[in-house]
Amino acid sequence: MSLKFRFLLLFTASVLSLQAQDKLQYQIDVTKNTDTFYVDLNVPFKLGKANSVFQFPATAPGTYQTMNIGRLVSHFQAFNKNGKLLKTNFVAPNQYQIKKVKKLSNIRYQVAETFDTQLTEYPIYMMAGSSIEDDHTLINSHTMTGYFRGKQQNPIEMKVIGKPDWITGSPLKEVNGYLQAESFDHLVDSPILCGKLSLAETKVADTPIRIFTYSEKGKYDSKALLNHMQAMLQSAEKFLVKLPVDNYTFLYYFLQNPSGVTGAWEHSYSSEYVLAETNPTEQNMKQVTDIAAHEFFHVVTPLNIHSEIIEHFNFEKPTPSEHLWLYEGVTEWASHIQLLRGSVTDLKTYIQDALKQKVIVSEVYFNPDWSLVKIAEESFKGGEGAKQYGNIYYKGALAATYLDIRLLELSNGKFGLREVLLDLIKKYGKGNPFSEKTFFDDLAAMTFPEIKDFANDYIIGDKALPHEEYLSKIGLKYERKAKMNVEISEMENKKEQQEKLFQAWLVNLPR
Ligand SMILES: [Zn+2]
Repeated sequence: MSLKFRFLLLFTASVLSLQAQDKLQYQIDVTKNTDTFYVDLNVPFKLGKANSVFQFPATAPGTYQTMNIGRLVSHFQAFNKNGKLLKTNFVAPNQYQIKKVKKLSNIRYQVAETFDTQLTEYPIYMMAGSSIEDDHTLINSHTMTGYFRGKQQNPIEMKVIGKPDWITGSPLKEVNGYLQAESFDHLVDSPILCGKLSLAETKVADTPIRIFTYSEKGKYDSKALLNHMQAMLQSAEKFLVKLPVDNYTFLYYFLQNPSGVTGAWEHSYSSEYVLAETNPTEQNMKQVTDIAAHEFFHVVTPLNIHSEIIEHFNFEKPTPSEHLWLYEGVTEWASHIQLLRGSVTDLKTYIQDALKQKVIVSEVYFNPDWSLVKIAEESFKGGEGAKQYGNIYYKGALAATYLDIRLLELSNGKFGLREVLLDLIKKYGKGNPFSEKTFFDDLAAMTFPEIKDFANDYIIGDKALPHEEYLSKIGLKYERKAKMNVEISEMENKKEQQEKLFQAWLVNLPR
């Protein structure tokens, strides 16, 4: 995920394996009311007593925020096959208990959209929210669907009832008008944008890429976005050697007056962007591309490299993983360094976007005494935890920058953080999580013992980041002139070791 902070004006396929009768069938009507989703869930198989709790999500993967979707649900009704009402009980904050669940045939309820609903406590990021207007709908399924306890892994199909001239953008495949998901997790991992959208398509290596765009005033369209993203996609492929996905969808949503926090949210085969509809100047297009680079890189982590806490996602009770520094900090670092190493940006731009701005924002707008692990542990709690969460994109990215430099130093310029990531994809990958508790030791074992000290100081611990010391290792001179003034420049007379590390740092090492 990435957030767009307004205070600085910076942006900062599936195979169905279970039998058809075990498939839950959703129909979501967005034509009845422009603020409310009318949901009908058909249950064409028998449930048992153990499945009598219907669970709406408390949170969703990659958002690191508590959402309690139960707040948005109303008119919840359960029926038997003759259309007779079954008794239900609301169990705050997110559950409905269904009596005589063995007789259940379908459920109907209404859900308020998040964009036009005032939520003072635990506001929901717009890119993780939902919207209906006359000419489109944005569906992030965790905001309007749930699952029966014990049936989180059942396949689901979903039909969105919209207007006849709308088109649908989603990584989900469509069969007979129904989008197909292999499980509830897969459904939540697959945003849906319907309406008057523009579409552009390309291929990076052999991977088909599709871009769908909704733009309220028509200022942005998919072709122009794709033109600006081509170089970034090519350099991402070089950085990763080979893209770890066989298809990818970008969903863009631009609106005039965002009512909440805008930004973007990553998924396994897609990412979705809710952004203010500015004028599509070169600078604004670059900001959109920078966010896209970040989201696209999430195919590496957490989507391919994550702990068991992310693998077995708990929708009922928000459970933090202490490795948020990896999921978000390393991703943010990679999204910038790959552009530099791919010659899409120059050193000056890199220093501005990925170093200077990160130092100032992390130390002026956030509390620099919060360790990266503390940010991870507190993010779901709302209040100060939610407020400090954004620093993961600043302090977290800087820590990744210094981890990369430390690895290059220890390996004499042969093995940096990119090479560690490529090895981690091989070692773990989808469906094979690393150990939440021993990851820092495992990382030290596959690299250098000193990496555990680095983690203790700058990831687990709250030691101030060593900007000057670490940047000088690669021949960059760091000067803090004032609170809001940081100067970073290339040294003119680098020592031999500095020049060597600088050259190793500047390129993708051979793989
Ligand atoms: Zn992110």
